[in-house]
Amino acid sequence: MIRFHDLTLEQFIQWCQERGEKSFRAEQVWEWVYQKGVSDWALMTNLSKEFRSLLEQSFQLKSLRLDSQEISKDQQTVKFLWKLEDGKFVESVLILAPGRKTVCVSSQVGCPARCAFCASGKEGLMRNLTAVEIFEQVYQIQIEIQEKVSHIVFMGMGEPLENYDEVVKALKMLCDENRLHFSERKITVSTVGVVEGIHKLAQESFKVNLALSLHAPNQHVRKKIIPYARKYDLSLVLEAMRQYAATTKRDITYEYTLLAGINDHAEHAMELAKLVQGDPCTVNLIPYNPVDGINLERPEREQIEEFREILEAKGIVTTWRYTKGKDIAAACGQLALKKKSESDLHVLPML
Ligand code: SF4
Repeated sequence: MIRFHDLTLEQFIQWCQERGEKSFRAEQVWEWVYQKGVSDWALMTNLSKEFRSLLEQSFQLKSLRLDSQEISKDQQTVKFLWKLEDGKFVESVLILAPGRKTVCVSSQVGCPARCAFCASGKEGLMRNLTAVEIFEQVYQIQIEIQEKVSHIVFMGMGEPLENYDEVVKALKMLCDENRLHFSERKITVSTVGVVEGIHKLAQESFKVNLALSLHAPNQHVRKKIIPYARKYDLSLVLEAMRQYAATTKRDITYEYTLLAGINDHAEHAMELAKLVQGDPCTVNLIPYNPVDGINLERPEREQIEEFREILEAKGIVTTWRYTKGKDIAAACGQLALKKKSESDLHVLPML
């Protein structure tokens, strides 16, 4: 069976024509699938029964099966657990805010980066997601909520730039004017600092926002919490980010998870301010969310306030991310791989 979402409109028109159907039939199907969000051939009532049955035999419309949904107590965060065709599980998170519906997608099952504060990194990489599996996380959530999502962030499980080709293909599908037609400006890809991937992304025809999981004000501290820092020196990562910003004319977001006693001192804040001063950037402070089995702690509130004040006094635009979805383990850093059985993995993404 062909995965329907793998085809472009042109390829589908050709497929229809080869079977004696007019191109407008292909456009009708396209409208059902992408404009009306219908993923059941039987409901496409303006198509003949024969054509619907041919479509059913030839194409698969869903490669993710929704296993469960969890809603946080404040109703602002919804976690979707998807079952993949090979029995593995992956999650996406919908975050609701006034005038904003953001979907956080996963790009891999597991993650090769193994950051110290992240439970998913402990297990390493299981496999890459395909472009269709990434695309469908957004597509199916839109169908579930019967509304258009406003923003997409690649901040779930996985390092997107380590699954470069499939992520780029998914980005093109999401922005395709014949499909979900997302604006590139509403999409953010987050990386831990895969230098060659950042340079490659800057050369693409589309320009998405790029966030760097910085988490440290210098190479020494970074190496302690992000193993990838041993491969990619901070100076090279920052150089790549700055080139990306210059090429795409997009501001940089620096993500900074505050870990008690590790990167949260006043001196760290001053060093960080010096490091990013002059960059067109925002520093997003993320107080650490404790994860079972990881011996790290969130700083006291006063410590976080002081850190932010130092940055702001130095003129750095700083946001403090309000932690959402903690009660359903969908908050930043709470990602984990929970074994449901020997072969099943339950993946909780990071926001
Ligand atoms: S924090 Fe992100 S990049 Fe690091 S191990 Fe977790 S999912 Fe991977």
